[in-house]
Amino acid sequence: MAQQNVPITVAMGDGIGPEIMDATLRILQAAGARITLEEVEIGEKVYARGYSAGIEDSTWASLERTRVFLKAPITTPQGGGFKSLNVTTRKALGLFANIRPCRTYYPFVDTKHPGMDVVIVRENEEDLYAGIEHRQTDEVYQCLKLITRPGTEKIVRYAFEYAVANGRKKVTCFSKDNIMKMTDGIFHKIFDEIGAEYPQIEKEHWIIDIGAAKLADTPHAFDVVVMANLYGDILSDVAAQIAGSVGLAGSANIGVNYAMFEAIHGSAPRRAGQNMANPTGLINGAILMLIHIGQPDVASNVQNALLKTIEDGVHTYDIFREGRSKQKVGTKEFADAVIARLGQKPTVLPAVDFGEPRPMNRELYIPKPRPAHNKVLAGVDIFVHWNEKNPDVLADQFNAFLQEAGMEVTMISNRGTKVWPKGHPETFLTDHWRIRTKAHGWADGIVPVKHAQIVEALNLAQQNGFDFIKTENLYYFDGEAGYVKSAGE
Ligand code: NAD
Repeated sequence: MAQQNVPITVAMGDGIGPEIMDATLRILQAAGARITLEEVEIGEKVYARGYSAGIEDSTWASLERTRVFLKAPITTPQGGGFKSLNVTTRKALGLFANIRPCRTYYPFVDTKHPGMDVVIVRENEEDLYAGIEHRQTDEVYQCLKLITRPGTEKIVRYAFEYAVANGRKKVTCFSKDNIMKMTDGIFHKIFDEIGAEYPQIEKEHWIIDIGAAKLADTPHAFDVVVMANLYGDILSDVAAQIAGSVGLAGSANIGVNYAMFEAIHGSAPRRAGQNMANPTGLINGAILMLIHIGQPDVASNVQNALLKTIEDGVHTYDIFREGRSKQKVGTKEFADAVIARLGQKPTVLPAVDFGEPRPMNRELYIPKPRPAHNKVLAGVDIFVHWNEKNPDVLADQFNAFLQEAGMEVTMISNRGTKVWPKGHPETFLTDHWRIRTKAHGWADGIVPVKHAQIVEALNLAQQNGFDFIKTENLYYFDGEAGYVKSAGE
């Protein structure tokens, strides 16, 4: 039985957006994609109408109906007061996974890495992108890095499921857990836990700095690479660029109920309206969409025709090279060339066959209830804005009044470096101090502290002239410290 048409929300975008979207949609139509389009407007004009994220209610309504978004790049307005449309859409629709296949078109497009075929799987919703930032003192600004167990389980699970579904052999995890022992530590731990459920897939972990260097130097040593939001943001652009150009790659943003597909490049305003832009990135995004909506036959046809076009030397200006390219074409002519090659396969570049539709097993991404931990409050880090420079004085003053709350200072750090007890005179000191406090007797084991004691400690700090700028409670979970200890604790 023929599949019914799948409704898709389509946005033409800004700059080169309308041209590359027109080219992409013509190819999809010619290839027999079973889709019905709902066109919406996003970006510059919508920002100008006063919508701070460049997206209006009628677009949300369309997305609720279709749950699939094919989006051309938009121009982000300069200046304050505007929110990123991409970040807003990803968070609002729960698009937790960003998938970016980065492959080369060697020898038809220049690259230093002919054998490269890497898929970056980037966590899309948390990490340092929560937007929780504060200025706390004259000198110090803070951005909170939030890594959650369910968020990490989803992205790591997705990376392994993607590997299995796409015949990939290895999943690599990048983290910096040698430094960020709790946040990156849990990311790495969950990678090991979930990886154990996929014995057929090879697994490895690299500290992100050397991993990134290796990815840039020998990308063919990688297959699927999973990482947290910021690392993935940076390295997915690096991977796309070294594969040939950021102008060639597409990406998928996947959630449990919604998905968004796009090119990875921007709206290239300087090239707009000149029939010059390369539509390959958006076509690649649309191919990921076709696979997602269960039309891998159409996806394979479009991908093979695209590869054949590039192989035949039909190139837009950005990849055109005298001697190697055969024909320099504009956006429209490139689309015509792809359409003319539908049904053909490349002969030098490997042809693809995306196989049977593989619907997402949504159950896998619904967080499982976990037993509550035995959580014991055992102290508090009190952060203060203090303009003096002698940590011994700070410890003495706090210890004098903390007596009353049944607590004492166990450690003081400045920018995370322990300065009391036994600091180094050379340590650079700012106006931002962390005073770790616990109940008397803490050195002999976990001594519970009441919230009321903490409130009292803060009251005493304020009465003694200290500007406390924030607190972080110190918990134990089943006897295991829920905070990073400093040396000697
Ligand atoms: P850009 O990706 O638009 O352009 C970078 C360079 O690549 C330019 O030289 C451009 O001419 C070239 N280029 C990009 N796509 C091309 C294509 N398809 N064919 C040929 N050449 C291409 O990045 P930018 O100049 O930093 O940003 C322009 C605008 O796009 C900004 O407003 C930015 O905020 C926005 N942007 C939007 C998205 C998105 O909507 N997903 C992503 C990135 C940037």
